Amino acid sequence: MQLEHYIGGRFLATEEEKWTSVLNPANGELLAEVPLATEVTVNEAVAQAKQAQQEWALVPAPKRAQYLYAIGMKMQEKKEHLATVLTKEMGKVIEEGRGEVQEGIDMAFYMAGEGRRLFGETTPSELSNKFAMSVRAPIGVVGLITPWNFPVAIATWKSFPAIVAGNTFVWKPATETPMMAYEMAKIFDEVGLPKGVANIVFGSGGEVGTALIEHPDVKVISFTGSTETGRKVASLGGQHLKKVSLEMGGKNAVIVMDDADLDLAVDGILWSAFGTAGQRCTACSRVIVHKDVKEELEQRLLEAMKQLSIGDGLDESVKVGPVINQKALEKIHYYVEEGQKEGARLLAGGRILTEQPYSQGHFYAPTLFTDVAPDARIAQEEIFGPVVSLIAVADLEEAIQVNNSVQYGLSSSIFTQDINSAFKAQRDLDTGIVYVNAGTTGAEIHLPFGGTKGTGNGHRDSGVAALDVYTEWKSVYIDYSGKLQRAQIDTE
Ligand code: NAD
Repeated sequence: MQLEHYIGGRFLATEEEKWTSVLNPANGELLAEVPLATEVTVNEAVAQAKQAQQEWALVPAPKRAQYLYAIGMKMQEKKEHLATVLTKEMGKVIEEGRGEVQEGIDMAFYMAGEGRRLFGETTPSELSNKFAMSVRAPIGVVGLITPWNFPVAIATWKSFPAIVAGNTFVWKPATETPMMAYEMAKIFDEVGLPKGVANIVFGSGGEVGTALIEHPDVKVISFTGSTETGRKVASLGGQHLKKVSLEMGGKNAVIVMDDADLDLAVDGILWSAFGTAGQRCTACSRVIVHKDVKEELEQRLLEAMKQLSIGDGLDESVKVGPVINQKALEKIHYYVEEGQKEGARLLAGGRILTEQPYSQGHFYAPTLFTDVAPDARIAQEEIFGPVVSLIAVADLEEAIQVNNSVQYGLSSSIFTQDINSAFKAQRDLDTGIVYVNAGTTGAEIHLPFGGTKGTGNGHRDSGVAALDVYTEWKSVYIDYSGKLQRAQIDTE
């Protein structure tokens, strides 16, 4: 299968472009060939988006929203197909693949609703016979740069608010997951979204990403990816005075207090730490446990981890799929070796799976460390794989302090039966998302998604908050007094 860019309503690829292969991380099967765009292709996509935006901005928002309803319906119709492509391309188990597609469907319907809101404010003027209001105005062409670990959901968190607000977009998906973007291009095409509103260009971050950020007609860059890349995007975007929204890495923790329901905590940890093979930005990679229940929790976790079946995510019984590629495997294993050198005790896993049926894919054994120092590298840096570090603490204050001691601030969770501990934690945990008696994952699309510190730069994906990224506030004053009234001067 050969993929093509989607530009101005046409599928195209040029022979001059380099091509790369998309391989199934579970078994190395060749899934597709994808073209890698040059700056010329990016320029064409931006030109098409710019031209389309002028008309799109004049389409009433409730009518723009009708396209989102159609997209949501189409995604619903194709849900099983989309989930299967997702699992083959990226490796997460099919159940999670379906969940991710559902997230996109939910986002379509939710943002379609915004087409009948897009609320601004009306407010009294300080002058007589004068009317004052603020409205959300579209910004223009937005550039979307997305990661491979949520190849469809994240794109919907960005593109749907962008288009309902009257913008058009050029989306550069991760090089590892172009197939999901291609599926979305087909959907945009099938529902008759006006040409040029949605454009998809495949290619590398260095080439296509840079060209998008530097392009004078791209007014907003919305990026999700690692903190390392985000810094580059922010710095280049800053030079070009772009509005840049960044959603970046995480080092999320589950806190387990001595009064916690331990069975519930184990379920929450397993799902958050090993779902998507630990490759979620919100994955739990630290467990901060009260010292009085540490040994009990270790035993229960070890027992539960034995039940985790590993394999190809298309097999419904599998709970942990492959990681994305060989580079990821090596990075994960590097950290596991570092952890041991730093004195952490390895309780389970800690190895690349090379035996059958794993030999053709990229599989890492779910890994549990204990007696990890809060400042150890495995407790501080994002590993992005199925590796969890247990850190023992004496009380809630110390748990919160350890949670907050990392450079990231995406998600955190506390298991406790005590309402005072729960409320204190939700106030003091320095993360954009806090869960009580649930793991670190499970965001719902109508709430803002994003993080503090090294995870973000103050913007949010999803929820109404996302509209702030894709709109400018315009303040409108209408004077019907028939004379020149001067604000702050002609007041009584
Ligand atoms: P990545 O930073 O390697 O790549 C992200 C995107 O940026 C890709 O499309 C890539 O091609 C592009 N890119 C790379 N270099 C670029 C450059 N110089 N200029 C412009 N674009 C460039 O991240 P990844 O490996 O695809 O994804 C994993 C990371 O994403 C993890 O750190 C994870 O925590 C993070 N993530 C964060 C969130 C969130 O909402 N906070 C959600 C999912 C993933």
